[in-house]
This record gives sequence, structure tokens and C-alpha cells, in this order.
Amino acid sequence: MDMAELDAAVSQCRACPRLVEWREEVARTKRAAFRDWTYWGRPVPGFGPHDAALAIIGLAPAAHGANRTGRMFTGDRSGDFLYQALYDVGLASQPHAEHIDDGLELRGTRLTAPVKCAPPENKPTPAERDACRHWLADELRLLTPTLRAIVVLGGFGWQALLPVLAAAGWQVPRPRPKFGHGVRVTLAGPTEITLFGLFHPSQQNTFTGRLTPAMARDVLSAAAAAAGL
Ligand code: SF4
Repeated sequence: MDMAELDAAVSQCRACPRLVEWREEVARTKRAAFRDWTYWGRPVPGFGPHDAALAIIGLAPAAHGANRTGRMFTGDRSGDFLYQALYDVGLASQPHAEHIDDGLELRGTRLTAPVKCAPPENKPTPAERDACRHWLADELRLLTPTLRAIVVLGGFGWQALLPVLAAAGWQVPRPRPKFGHGVRVTLAGPTEITLFGLFHPSQQNTFTGRLTPAMARDVLSAAAAAAGL
């Protein structure tokens, strides 16, 4: 299976009953500001080149963001912050992401998430995280020949990612390294990769100043350098 086939298969998944019901209910009821939209309402595959050297791992699609537009981090405040930062460090072709045909391209970077359906209150259950793990594992396996660095946006993604890397043959230390903003861990394995921790660009972090644009640019710049971008 290649990445295009994987993306197509992901978008058909119905393995988590609670999330299927929620993503489709949100797509039916809509937010008033988006009543003219036909919501995507399905799992959201990763976005970016299939031979990326850098992966960015978020949490899950936002109900009225990627669950509406069908592209990771597209159409919500977290995405506004993230794409501006990616543009600032030369990894995105434009600083905004509004819809799937807006012309945005990522340079050597693939954006994805450990849970590919929008969860109520942005909180997937551990069972849903585990059910979705195989999609992330397949995605990283396909990226392995070119992958050199991973930026993880928050502790949920970090906890989800480490078992995937360990199962795929990377040497994850015990005890497992803890998530933190600015944490950097290099792992030996099928390829040497470096993990970077970055606070999730949720409004709880960006509106409170816990995560500033400069902080995001610093981590993304370091990760781009580690990935050879
Ligand atoms: Fe499938 Fe993942 Fe969505 Fe669950 S969260 S339905 S495993 S794509």
C-alpha cells in the first residue's frame, strides 16, 4: 500500500462508534458560521509530501476545523497559528489554510495526528487512541526511508507516538522520555530520527501566552535543520 492508498483507506474508517457518530453529527448540524459548507465529516488523513523528512504529529481533527475542511489543521485557530509558524520558517508556501483547494503546500513536511477523527471536547479515549494507532504506524512506515525528525504537538501525541516507534524498531529508552516543550530526543532505529516537543497550538496555549509564535518558530526551525530541510 502506498501513501495515496493509505490516505484513501483512512478516510473510510469507521472503527470507533463514538467518533463516527460525533464526526457525522457535527457535519449534519454544523456551526452557524459554516452553514453553507458541506462538512468532510470523515477521518482526516495526513497532509504533505509522501517523502517528507519531517513529520508533525498533532492530537486529532477539530470538529469545525479539519472535520469540516478535510485537511489537517485547516480552518481553525490552532491551524492559523501553526501554518503561520510553518510559513515563517519556510516549511509552508503560505501563512494561512482555509480550505482544501487554497493552494497551500508543505515543504518536506507531513502533518498528521494519532487520532484521525474529531472527538467530543477534543478528548479521544485511550481505546480510541489505541484503535487508531495502526494508521499512524502505517504512515510512519511509509515515511521511514526519508523521515529524519518528528515534532510532537503536546503530551497526547507524544504518548501515542512512542509505542508506535518502539514497535517499528526504534530504540525508545526506558523509562520513556517525558513530553515537554523544547524536549529533544534522538532515537536510533531503522533511520536515526530526532523527536521535538512543542506545546500544542490550541487556544488554551496560544491565547494565554504559554505558547508564543517565537517559541513555535524556534522548535520548528531546529526540527527543520535536523531533518535537513
Ligand atoms: Fe478509524 Fe481512527 Fe477514526 Fe477510530 S479514530 S474511526 S480508528 S480513523
